[in-house]
Amino acid sequence: MSSIASLPVLLKELKLAGMTKVWQTLAKTAVEEHWLPQDYLASLCEQEAADRYHKRVLRHTHEAQLPLGKTLSSFDFDAIKSVKKTQMTALMVDTQWVQRGENVLLFGPSGVGKTHLAAAIGYALIEKGLRVRFSTATALVQMLQKARAELGLMEALTRLDKYVVLIIDDIGYVKKNEMETQVLFELIAHRYESGSLIITSNQAFSDWDQIFNDNMMTVAAIDRLVHHACIIQCQEESYRKKQSLQGRSKK
Ligand code: ADP
Ligand code: MG
Repeated sequence: MSSIASLPVLLKELKLAGMTKVWQTLAKTAVEEHWLPQDYLASLCEQEAADRYHKRVLRHTHEAQLPLGKTLSSFDFDAIKSVKKTQMTALMVDTQWVQRGENVLLFGPSGVGKTHLAAAIGYALIEKGLRVRFSTATALVQMLQKARAELGLMEALTRLDKYVVLIIDDIGYVKKNEMETQVLFELIAHRYESGSLIITSNQAFSDWDQIFNDNMMTVAAIDRLVHHACIIQCQEESYRKKQSLQGRSKK
């Protein structure tokens, strides 16, 4: 039989941090409550799994760069009649759309909660163990353009593949030069049917020729995005504006 003295070292060597934290207290409980050895083992494994899950969520939350606090619980659905909570929770509970590489497109004027909702989906997916990345369209295009200038566009696109969901915020704000829109198109084409995109836009599809410049490219981009997509229209007055008006009327 191996010596109990070597247990802490073995647990460390096997990188079982969750078990390391609890094995002594659990052993005490196990003795007091007359657990079978296998019950003790099962309990230790559960703790290890929980610890790993918790650390993974923290790691994935950090890398996702989602705007802080924009979760489902901080979203007030009474303020936005055009978006149903059930519709949003469905996207968060059943994540098969992610496995299928489908997209979510959020449209609406400024301040109605598009970014908040996109981030809320992101947070929920991370809780489900998925890897997500949030970026403004402007920052993403800048990064891809830099990669292309260094002849590394393909690598940059492939690096983003590890995120099963990529959130592109404010696609309408991409500057309108040909080089910039081209990398954006390449990203959309690269992820088509293989990785999900959540896109927010305050411009309806009919105005997307202003994003892509070239009409053929606009049509091709829209085709790929909507082929498998859930489209959410947020048709309210700006939440920001309502809040500030309420604030003023209280004074
Ligand atoms: P958009 O992306 O449509 O311009 P945002 O998501 O940035 O709008 O929303 C603007 C601000 O108002 C953010 O701080 C957001 O958290 C908040 N907000 C918008 N709609 C709601 C809502 N229904 N409930 C809670 N906060 C909201
Ligand atoms: Mg926004």
